[in-house]
Amino acid sequence: MPRPITAIIHPAAVRHNLERVRQAVPDAKLWSVVKANAYGHGIENVFEGLRATDGFAMLDLDEAQRVRALGWRGPILLLEGVFEPRDLELCSRLSIWHAVHCSEQIDWLAAHKTQVGHRVFLKMNSGMNRLGFTPERFRAAYARLNALPQVDEISFMTHFSDADVEHGLDRQLAVFHQTTQDLPGERSIGNSAATLLRGTDAQVRCDWVRPGIVLYGSSPDFPAHDIAHWDLQPTMTLRSKIIGTQELHAGDTVGYGSLFQAEGVMRLGVVACGYADGYPRHCPTGTPVLVDGQRTRSLGRVSMDMMAVDLSHLPQAGLGSEVTLWGRASNGTVLPVDEVAAAAGTLGYELMCAVAPRVAKVVDGAEK
Ligand SMILES: *Cc1c(COP(=O)(O)O)cnc(C)c1O
Repeated sequence: MPRPITAIIHPAAVRHNLERVRQAVPDAKLWSVVKANAYGHGIENVFEGLRATDGFAMLDLDEAQRVRALGWRGPILLLEGVFEPRDLELCSRLSIWHAVHCSEQIDWLAAHKTQVGHRVFLKMNSGMNRLGFTPERFRAAYARLNALPQVDEISFMTHFSDADVEHGLDRQLAVFHQTTQDLPGERSIGNSAATLLRGTDAQVRCDWVRPGIVLYGSSPDFPAHDIAHWDLQPTMTLRSKIIGTQELHAGDTVGYGSLFQAEGVMRLGVVACGYADGYPRHCPTGTPVLVDGQRTRSLGRVSMDMMAVDLSHLPQAGLGSEVTLWGRASNGTVLPVDEVAAAAGTLGYELMCAVAPRVAKVVDGAEK
């Protein structure tokens, strides 16, 4: 029998979360962001849940091909555009839209021999200073693109640096709309946080929104609001079992570094889950864990293949008991990935993307 750890993917929850985004911005089109293999879930595992989307957005041509191979005939967008000129051939062949964020990408298009008109999203650097043309250079880039016979349709995009805080997008929003105001074409600016927090504002939702993390059951502004507040459901459950137990007495310590010391008699369970499975080593004693669907806490340092949890108040728990590291327990209790991430000083994004290859991903059969 393999080690009893799995990542269970819940396509029905993905479908629910997509529907939530739809309700938040009913008159916008949705790019479902499936980069990083659908935030660690596996594109093939979430595809059914995302069928009601208007398009799929990602970074890798390889992932775009996988979405086409699943039978998706609708729009696909490469959010960083192409990485080298020959990528344009696949874009032509598979009808993949692509961002254009630098002048070299325009040069490549100008030299590209194709019968197929390309659809591009011209990207503005409105203040984040990652990818895109600055507002000063944006209109010249537009004019160049617009003169190319290879280009059929030009849309506009930018990305926010502070969408999760009040007024965090005001400055970038103003720059983007001023610079593009009289240019014809569709617009896309909102990620998950902008969509849920500010999507009622037509200037924010524009023609297309680009939700990622909300589709995967993580709150875009945790800890201000949790997934229950946004009516989102966990889409990934990291599930394992208790594979050993120990009785502790006052003064006994747990794990590497002896970081936890018992103050009295207690019982611990050893879970088949460690940092080599993608569980963060930075989680301190006290990180929430569900055993048999009941909340308890981790004890001591997370090691490579194991970690310890407190069973003192769970007398029924023992060898073989179900452990939910994040997601939904069999009894329905939810432990949001955001809570575990916060304990490790990071975000749900990082935890879900970091689940290790040795952890089998299984699609929740009851939900398909
Ligand atoms: C990743 C990404 C998104 C989605 O962001 P979330 O915070 O996960 O909603 C949107 N747009 C671009 C350009 C991205 O790279």
